[in-house]
Amino acid sequence: VRDSKLQLVVSHIRAFPDFPKKGIVFRDICPLLKDAAALSAVIDLFEDHVRINYQQVDLIVGLDARGFLFGPLLAQRLGVGFVLVRKKGKLPGATVAVTYDLEYGTAEAEIQEDAVAPGQKVLLIDDLLATGGTLYAACQLMRKQQAEVLGCLVVIELKELQGVDKLKPQRVFSLVQY
Ligand code: AMP
Repeated sequence: VRDSKLQLVVSHIRAFPDFPKKGIVFRDICPLLKDAAALSAVIDLFEDHVRINYQQVDLIVGLDARGFLFGPLLAQRLGVGFVLVRKKGKLPGATVAVTYDLEYGTAEAEIQEDAVAPGQKVLLIDDLLATGGTLYAACQLMRKQQAEVLGCLVVIELKELQGVDKLKPQRVFSLVQY
């Protein structure tokens, strides 16, 4: 069953060479969202992983923007809430931010100050792990708020960029690797 679900997931990811710029192979998850069975398979696989590996999860934390597509679905399955890590300037009220490096320049990730409470156990989720810079920044935000990061979940991992190493000692679970 697990293998057939994984097959369904893999077959609904498209590759676009040289997007958004030359040399990048963009992994497009739109077909995965458009197909009800494939999308269910993604959430089934994440849910199984979480139930097997973690006794208690308090919140799912999703990364801007494609982490928002999968995170709330998983959170509903687990019966827990969902929290947003956004690009700077999108969230109202008191916020906490961290700066992180991009290929050119820097970016800022932000959460609402009251999004997580000290000691809460959270799982981070995004569509894809590349260099790990984005998830690393989200981990820093969680640390600032004294939440406990249990691990990171991604649909796709780009192995050659070694994001898993950057995130150590955090655990990373991916469904599909390239
Ligand atoms: P990174 O911080 O380098 O791990 O980059 C991860 C973020 O960039 C994720 O939120 C992805 O959505 C996006 N991203 C990076 N590389 C790709 C790619 N080849 N295809 C699709 N999305 C990507």
